[in-house]
Amino acid sequence: MPNDIVLEAQSVFATYNQTIKALNGVSFSLRRGEILALLGSNGAGKSTTLKAISNLLPAERGQVTSGQIIFEGREVRSSSPAELVRAGLVQVLEGRHCFKSLSVEENLVSGGLGRSSLRREIAEDLEKVYLTFPRLKEKRHTSSGLTSGGEQQMTAIGRALMSRPRLLVLDEPSMGLAPLIIKDIFRSLKRLNAEEGLSILVAEQNSTVALKYADHATVIENGVAVLSGRAADLRQRDDIKAFYLGEG
Ligand code: ATP
Repeated sequence: MPNDIVLEAQSVFATYNQTIKALNGVSFSLRRGEILALLGSNGAGKSTTLKAISNLLPAERGQVTSGQIIFEGREVRSSSPAELVRAGLVQVLEGRHCFKSLSVEENLVSGGLGRSSLRREIAEDLEKVYLTFPRLKEKRHTSSGLTSGGEQQMTAIGRALMSRPRLLVLDEPSMGLAPLIIKDIFRSLKRLNAEEGLSILVAEQNSTVALKYADHATVIENGVAVLSGRAADLRQRDDIKAFYLGEG
């Protein structure tokens, strides 16, 4: 595998409960420093693909039955989810998980503790997150449960950033959020990508937004990667939305 490839999925098949076939051949690769969007309609297999990448399927009675997923040269199934985080593969799960009773800042700090116990390093990383999401600095002493959906999503992403990812994986960051907040979040991700070279894999049903900010995209349908290409090219094709993405 050329070493500018950060993540490669090779013909991945996966099931739940040994019977439900969720992935039937998903392949794609993500180059260092790029944003790759994984597109597809409801139930297409995006979340299953992301869970497979972080080796989270066994926790849901799911398993990869064949194929390979390689992150920076290692097959992800040979590492636990926590080991993958320490190796730099960090995922923001669907549903903007935060500890609702903790303050925004406590949530963020909790994301850094697995990596470093040095107060100075954690403080530096916090400042970087606040530069990325200034709204979080304003709300840093507020309980996360009292912040808006957009701020909770930013907190979830910020917490992931605190573990200094080499690859940031996001599952439907736009879900349930207003267009302006979605734009704000994607712009921040794009800035991190452009300024720090952070590699990003983002699963989205909102193909319009994803194709605007991604470099490349892969479309999944019924658990199969049916189409891949440059986001700028896919944006021009109306048939993609109509046929694969349930829009049109
Ligand atoms: P969504 O945007 O709705 O999450 P998706 O593209 O992420 O859609 P998946 O959640 O990966 O799709 O679902 C792929 C298939 O696997 C679907 O048929 C779904 O019903 C099934 N599935 C997902 N999670 C489980 C589970 N924990 N147990 C059994 N089947 C599941």
